[in-house]
Amino acid sequence: MYNPGMSAIFEILGKDAGGRIGRLRTPHGTVETPTVMPVINPNIQLIPPKEMRNFGAEILITNSYIIYRKEELRSVALEKGLHGLLDFDGPIMTDSGSFQLSVYGSVEVTNEEILEFQQKIGSDIIVPLDIPTPPDVHFRRAEEELAVTAERLEAARRLIQGEQLLAGPVQGSTYPELREKAASYLKDLHFEVYPLGAVVPLMEAYRYTELVDVIAASKRGLSPASPVHLFGAGHPMMFALAVALGCDLFDSAAYALYAKDGRYITVNGTYHVEKLNYLPCSCPVCSRYSADELRKADNREELLARHNLYATFAEIRLIKQCIKDGKLLELVEQRCRAHPKLLDGLKELYSHSPWLEQLDPATKGTFFYCGPESASRPEVLRFGKRLDRFNLEGSVIIRTTPVKGEKDYDQILIFKAPFGAFPAEMEEVYPFNAEVPKFPDYEALTTALSNTLKLIELNPQAEFTFICEKEFSHPLIDEINKKAKLVYREDWREE
Ligand SMILES: [Zn+2]
Repeated sequence: MYNPGMSAIFEILGKDAGGRIGRLRTPHGTVETPTVMPVINPNIQLIPPKEMRNFGAEILITNSYIIYRKEELRSVALEKGLHGLLDFDGPIMTDSGSFQLSVYGSVEVTNEEILEFQQKIGSDIIVPLDIPTPPDVHFRRAEEELAVTAERLEAARRLIQGEQLLAGPVQGSTYPELREKAASYLKDLHFEVYPLGAVVPLMEAYRYTELVDVIAASKRGLSPASPVHLFGAGHPMMFALAVALGCDLFDSAAYALYAKDGRYITVNGTYHVEKLNYLPCSCPVCSRYSADELRKADNREELLARHNLYATFAEIRLIKQCIKDGKLLELVEQRCRAHPKLLDGLKELYSHSPWLEQLDPATKGTFFYCGPESASRPEVLRFGKRLDRFNLEGSVIIRTTPVKGEKDYDQILIFKAPFGAFPAEMEEVYPFNAEVPKFPDYEALTTALSNTLKLIELNPQAEFTFICEKEFSHPLIDEINKKAKLVYREDWREE
């Protein structure tokens, strides 16, 4: 029998957009998500695994294939267990050698062998030997490899049925339809964790548009109650975006690999330590060392790794706070301004607003308009879909701020971009209590004016007067002028 009751293993405590705060139960303890698993290289440990808790790590990940292949590691792992080998008593996930398979083309172990090995050494989350199909391959190859992966995952599900969690990686290359199909097939096999595989090449090439589509497609196929691991994602600058799409787990080899290269991670991108004159961070490392001292330190690699971990976990904590406050999308919009390719990813995220809208809580923290992309947020889309709920009759005035004589009208509507027109009584109600700039940008006006036009058309029995601001310049104003009485504010006279 597979582990019954997925909700017992993963519990969702809070939501915002597609993001959630969750609790994942493993044999070695419970983990709060979203979180990052620092990757532990069993051969070289720059920072002792048990120290990882000091940075905020609750779960680690290591590679069972590396341990399996090296006799001195394998014998210790079999004798003392994985937790004894790494000297860490919290949850540990193990990878299977799929990564090596993707790099070298072959591995010296079978799916069954590596599964049994992970089981024997006491891994908390076991990963089968799936085929990580890279981006851009021919559709037929992606489909064929997916079939092999499916067989191996079925075998894994039959084999692993105890307390240990089993991961079911979702593959399918850069074909959203294959990702969704694979995900919905795996959903019925009831894995405890769903890694999204082979996305590293997309992240390395800053292909965030496709990354967003891969995540969204996979999520659509899975149950929203399942935890999702974005395999290989370790840079904090894209965590908020991935969390907003519903990713719960990340893993970071980046903290160590970047340190080895002299690279210093921030949420806005990476600096080379040789080019840093100042340290824009206040973690224990950056508080103690100047940029110059850090550069020249004998243990530079270790210090950089420590800073990289602090920066990584600070972002996770901020993301969790934003979910609690209902402000995750504001954070995503800020983060995605760090790089134009991330901005493309943000636009792609909002192309999925109809889907996100179904996941997004109906009420949350005050909506902040952060830029033209905000006009496509799920909350704005939701308002547009519900315009037919308003029944308007008699004389209706639409204005931004109050105008003289408005009390003589049967109904007063407030015009606020990017939403449109809504009854004045709702002004303080979410999302209409939004904080927006005084002068809306073109995108906000487009959405607000087209919603207003739609509202006017839906209520032919009412007589509309639209008080327009002179700063509003948009072709849709002429359309409104054809269906309502349009008066510019400075021309408005009390009637
Ligand atoms: Zn620092």
